[in-house]
Amino acid sequence: MITIILGPPGAGKGTQASLLSRRLGMHHLSTGELLREARKSGTPLGKQTASYLDAGTLVPDSLVSALIAERISKESTHYLLDGFPRTERQAQELETIALKEGQRLAHVLILEVPDIEIIARLKKRGRTDDDVVIVEKRLSIYREQTQPIIAYYLERNILSKINGLGSVEEVYSRIISILSY
Ligand code: AMP
Repeated sequence: MITIILGPPGAGKGTQASLLSRRLGMHHLSTGELLREARKSGTPLGKQTASYLDAGTLVPDSLVSALIAERISKESTHYLLDGFPRTERQAQELETIALKEGQRLAHVLILEVPDIEIIARLKKRGRTDDDVVIVEKRLSIYREQTQPIIAYYLERNILSKINGLGSVEEVYSRIISILSY
């Protein structure tokens, strides 16, 4: 089974995904984390993608799709995709991967947080791509490239919008009520 967690930068995807994997044993796959690790360990992929991470722009679809394809198998695991797919092309790639591995796309969760709150949160987080100019860029990329896939999942009746405001536990319990539905 596959669940996707989406949302703008700073919406709390990573925090919620870590909790879900710790408490429910879901298999957390974060393309952002995988790319940051690749960069830290200096792999060819890391070198190839560092400039995108620094600029806050999207890494080419084929590279991130390959990262996910390598990690999804036929196992009866509940995969939790954090930050993937981010474009329509990636959403199509995921369909192909899921079909090939016999995995069902069960839920798409969107964490919704107003821009003003996002900017305030990211100022506190202090990651190198959280610089204010880069954050604006990442937000506009989110609106242009990622938001269109929301309609795609809405049509298929698997999308749930989640209010991302409030404490980590409050948001977590909203997610749980949807996953157990
Ligand atoms: P995140 O940790 O999800 O905020 O991702 C950090 C950065 O990694 C993004 O700003 C992109 O440069 C890159 N990245 C992560 N996931 C993807 C994806 N699905 N497609 C393209 N680029 C991605």
